[in-house]
This record gives sequence, C-alpha cells and structure tokens, in this order.
Amino acid sequence: STGNSPGNSTPRPQKKAVIIGGGPVGSLAALYFSRSNWDVEVYELRSDPRRCGTQALDKKSINLAISERGLNSLKVIDPLLLEEVMKETVPMTGRCIHPGKNDFRGKGGGESQAYDIHGRFIRSADRGRLNNILLDWIERQPNVKIFFETALKRLDLDKKDAEFEKRSTKETITVHADFFLGSDGAHSQARRFLQRYTLMDYEQVYIDTLWKELEIPPEEGTGGFRIDGNHLHIWPRKDFMFIAIPSPDKTFTCTLFMPERFFDEIGDTGEGLLAFFNRHFPDVIPLIGEEKLVTDYFRNSKLPLISIKCSPYHYKDTCAIVGDAAHAMVPFYGQGMNAGFEDVRVLFEHISAHPDNLSLALSNYSTERKADAHTINDLAMRNYIEMRDNVTSRLYKFRKAAEEL
Ligand code: FAD
Repeated sequence: STGNSPGNSTPRPQKKAVIIGGGPVGSLAALYFSRSNWDVEVYELRSDPRRCGTQALDKKSINLAISERGLNSLKVIDPLLLEEVMKETVPMTGRCIHPGKNDFRGKGGGESQAYDIHGRFIRSADRGRLNNILLDWIERQPNVKIFFETALKRLDLDKKDAEFEKRSTKETITVHADFFLGSDGAHSQARRFLQRYTLMDYEQVYIDTLWKELEIPPEEGTGGFRIDGNHLHIWPRKDFMFIAIPSPDKTFTCTLFMPERFFDEIGDTGEGLLAFFNRHFPDVIPLIGEEKLVTDYFRNSKLPLISIKCSPYHYKDTCAIVGDAAHAMVPFYGQGMNAGFEDVRVLFEHISAHPDNLSLALSNYSTERKADAHTINDLAMRNYIEMRDNVTSRLYKFRKAAEEL
C-alpha cells in the first residue's frame, strides 16, 4: 500500500473497510479507502461484469451523462483515472430538441440549446465500461479484494460483523471489519440494516412513469452517428418523452419515458407500436428502422423509477451509505451517479479532516450531504417537467415572439 490518502500522507495503522456493492460508486469508494491505507474488501452480488459481458449489468440504462461533479471526484483520487475514463466519453455540448408536429406551426427539425454560454459541456459514458475501468483500478491495489456473487444478508453494527451468502454454494461467510460502507444501490440491504440502528427518516416514491431502452444504430456505410453526435437529443411530448444519448461506438442509447397508460395504448403488437411512433415520433422510425424498433421494444422490459430520500447516512463510527443507497433519484438531471461519486469525495474530505475521530467525520458527512442530496433529488424530479414539456413551451413562445416581430 502507498499510504497515500486524499489530503493526508501519514501512514496509519491498517483498518479494514467492507464495501457492500461493487457498482460505480462502491468501486470508487474502494479506491479512496485503499489510497487511505485501509484494507478493503468489496462484496458484490452479481458476477464479475468483465467476464460476463453486459448480462451482469443490472437493468440500468446502458450509458449515462457524466459531468463536473462526477469527474472531479475521479480527478481528486487520481488524475490518471480521470484521463482513462475521459478517453472513452463523448462530449455533449447541448441538448437538441425535436419538436412534435403541432409545435412551431408544423415546422420539424431539431433545435440546439447549448448547455453553457462558455462552451463547457457534459459527457456521455458507457456505464458498463466505466464500471469495468473502476474494477480494474481497484483490483490493481494490493490492499483491495473483490468478492463477486456474494450478497449481504445481515449486518450487526455493534459487533461489527456482516454476513454474506455465496450465491453459488449458499455458504454463509461472516466478516468482521472496522467499517462498513453501503453502496448497494436503490434497494440497499445495508440501508435496511442501518435503519435498525439509527432513527432514520425515510421517504420512497415511485413516479408515474416507466422507462424502456431502445437504440439508434450507427449509419450504414459510414459507421458514423445518424444524428448530431454531440448532443443529448430530446423529443418532448408533454406527458412523455423520448431521448437519445450518443455512445462512443456511434450508437445512441435511447429511452422512452412514459406513464403506464401510454404503454397500454401501444399494446402488444408491432402495428400498435408503429402507429404510436408514427403519431408522436415519426422522425425516430427511420433512425432506428421499423424492424429493429419492434424487436427491441418488445424484447426490452419497461422499468420503474424510484426516488429515495433519507437521513442520516451513518451509524457511529461503523457504517455509512453512499450513492443510490443513500439517495436514489429519478434520472432526469443525469446526476445520480455523479452525486454518488461526489458522496465519496465529500466523505473522504471529512475523514481526512478528522482522521482520529471517524464518528465525527461520519456525522459531518451526514449533515453536509443531506442538504445537497435532497436538493439534487428535488431538482431531478423538477427536470422531468422541464425536459418533457417546458423545453418546447419556451421554444414555442420564443419562436412565436420572433415571428410576431
Ligand atoms: P448501483 O449502480 O445500483 O450499484 C449497486 C451495486 O450493489 C450493484 O452492482 C448491485 O449488484 C450491488 N448489490 C445490490 N444488493 C447487494 C447485496 N445485497 N450485496 C452485495 N451487493 C449488492 N446517473 C448519472 O449520473 N447520469 C445519468 O445520465 C444517469 N442516467 C440514468 C438513466 C436511467 C434510466 C437510470 C435508471 C439511472 C440513471 N442514472 C444516471 C443513475 C445512476 O444509474 C445511478 O445513480 C448509479 O448507478 C448509482 O450507482 P451506485 O453504485 O450507487 O448503485
């Protein structure tokens, strides 16, 4: 071990941290702990995604937007990690709005809205690739061990024991540690156990919208993007929307966000689907292709969206939660993972400030994070209305005013 720690270079006695969940946030946390000279063990429910391809990824969108908040948390722990992640991202300089037939008095075509007047941009990253890069990085640390296909079953935070089950053999393993970090996602078991030890406020909402993933393939012949590859494309339709995010392989990962009743309206036939797309997204059909649209639509599940707020995020000096385990949010601000990465950076700022008083560090982390996490959660909820509706209304009003001049 290097003995390096963010903000503290003095080697400290080896303590053991157990990280529950090896998703993007847990993996980044493992790197922070290892660089702070902890012995680290990561326990992950699923198989190693690097050996099992995308099957091992859970039902999360294939790519995601990574912005300053997330990138900064990578840079703080290692600028080389940031460099490696950035190499495989696509800059998105703005959003491109694709109005419906009834907007803009029948005019079609996309309209670019820059994200920043100074030209700054967000990036699109392949979720699986990002997770794999992080796993590769932590595997290279001499003081990190990763255990796949091992699920948390029980946490005793006073005895500092965790019980895991090996999925293949059903064998139970008891692990003693100084500290437990719950990074096991929205349906966190770690959070569930933490609730037994703290007076945790907890609020969970499923919104009235489901999502389904589709894909725009690269252009035949050129292999390039079919529409502008440096924008996040949005087809806002007031009650629902379709979005497309560019990927490094020149595909667009698309998401259809709609209340259940519209999925019901489509029904279970290709004709129903094509009629719906012809009515609401006619310009999307040639981008995906009729056959692929029908195949992908009926193959991919429609999935719910959950929003969770809770606090506090810790117990004494023994346990904390980060990422979706602490604050799952609806994806409309593109900040879930970014905020999770920021949790890790902020947690370590507090640990570095109080290296000999972990209870105080965790308590400060809970206090500071609650305000920010709850706010980003609310902003994400509000941005759904912005994306599916206001983007057009504002444009419409603007165009109308311009035409009346
Ligand atoms: P997860 O990614 O859920 O990882 C948790 C890990 O814990 C998993 O690997 C799981 O297998 C493991 N686990 C679960 N239970 C156990 C157990 N009992 N024992 C051991 N391991 C366990 N965020 C962005 O920043 N930008 C975006 O553009 C964006 N787009 C999104 C689009 C959609 C449609 C959705 C649904 C989400 C989006 N998000 C986005 C949010 C982002 O996906 C999450 O915030 C992020 O994945 C959270 O990471 P995590 O590591 O905290 O949790």
